[in-house]
Amino acid sequence: MEKMEPLLFPSISSSLSWVEIDSEALRHNVKQFRKLVGKKKILCGVVKSNAYGHGILEISHLILSYGVDWLGVNFVEEGIFLRKNGIKAPVMVLGYVPLNQLKEVVENGFRIVVYNLETLRVLGEISDRAKKEVFLHIKLETGTHRQGIYPERILEFINEIKKFPLLKLEGISTHFANIEDTTDHSYAEHQLGIFKKTAEMLETNGLEIPIKHTACTAATILFPETYFDMVRVGIGLYGLWPSRETFLSSMINGKPPVELKPVLTWKTRIAQIKDVKKGSFIGYGCSYKTGRDSRIAVLPVGYNEGYDRRLSNISYVLIKGHRAPVRGRVAMNMIMVDVTDIEDVRLEDEVVLIGSQGKERITAEYLASICGTINYEIVTRINPLIPRVIV
Ligand SMILES: *Cc1c(COP(=O)(O)O)cnc(C)c1O
Repeated sequence: MEKMEPLLFPSISSSLSWVEIDSEALRHNVKQFRKLVGKKKILCGVVKSNAYGHGILEISHLILSYGVDWLGVNFVEEGIFLRKNGIKAPVMVLGYVPLNQLKEVVENGFRIVVYNLETLRVLGEISDRAKKEVFLHIKLETGTHRQGIYPERILEFINEIKKFPLLKLEGISTHFANIEDTTDHSYAEHQLGIFKKTAEMLETNGLEIPIKHTACTAATILFPETYFDMVRVGIGLYGLWPSRETFLSSMINGKPPVELKPVLTWKTRIAQIKDVKKGSFIGYGCSYKTGRDSRIAVLPVGYNEGYDRRLSNISYVLIKGHRAPVRGRVAMNMIMVDVTDIEDVRLEDEVVLIGSQGKERITAEYLASICGTINYEIVTRINPLIPRVIV
């Protein structure tokens, strides 16, 4: 089967909506995490999912210049994209790499998280043939039951690695299951205990593993004992808290150990303004009926762009520093908002969908609470074709 190049779809018009990246806020967040973990730990910035919707290339260049050491991606293609665009920093592939794509890992010198014997064998053969070292990070199963191997199998796994001279065991890692969703951290402590015990067992077997890592943003903020040699920070770099529980837990000793500044603002502009009589229906399904003569603005974003349909009739946007409520259903590429109470609204006035304007602010957390989801999903879903602009 011949592999097809992905067809590059025409980009979404840059004048309909755009995402602004506040580089000062980003720098501030990177510095906060650097201060927290210290100079000696490796700071791995997680830039999977288009840098949580912020723009993988823009964010990667910026955070590396602010002092992030490594980049974490999910797909091998994300890593290749970074390499093709001049990024030379270490890249670790966190997600699954199909056996037939492992040669890309070797060619590009990516770090890879491993947990299948099949992966080891194929990587071993490729590294032999290419005469190139490959740096492996074993994922340990400590209770998340996602990726990873059980501690009982780790020696068997390491014996397989030893069969191939160019496979280098650089790291062992794990990922916490229940650190964001709760203020009770006993499960995370239980997982950390298993990780530590396994690491000690390896050391007594004479295996020195240079990079042990377990911490995501929440662990990095809450538990220095999870740092080991490297932290993998995603959401926090973007200035967002992993959860309210993490924020509250971090306040136990007074003030939180980091101050985070949201990096992203999502903007659009008004595409039409119209006067609508009292008793008129707005949008698909006639779900909203005006209770008064109203002035409605049409905005050129919808669920295709990442403005969730569950925001229909509930959320609001910001125009001239005021709240304009969403009226009717969110359509594929459009929404309607009520601007009756906002003075002097004009065609193509700037609108904030996420972010602040004047004294008002719309947070990803607020939209997430309406949608029954988390801030991660709200920002990650912003269509990657929408332009990202560094300000
Ligand atoms: C996504 C991810 C992270 C980053 O998590 P945040 O909560 O965004 O900091 C860290 N480690 C792994 C394995 C991940 O998949």
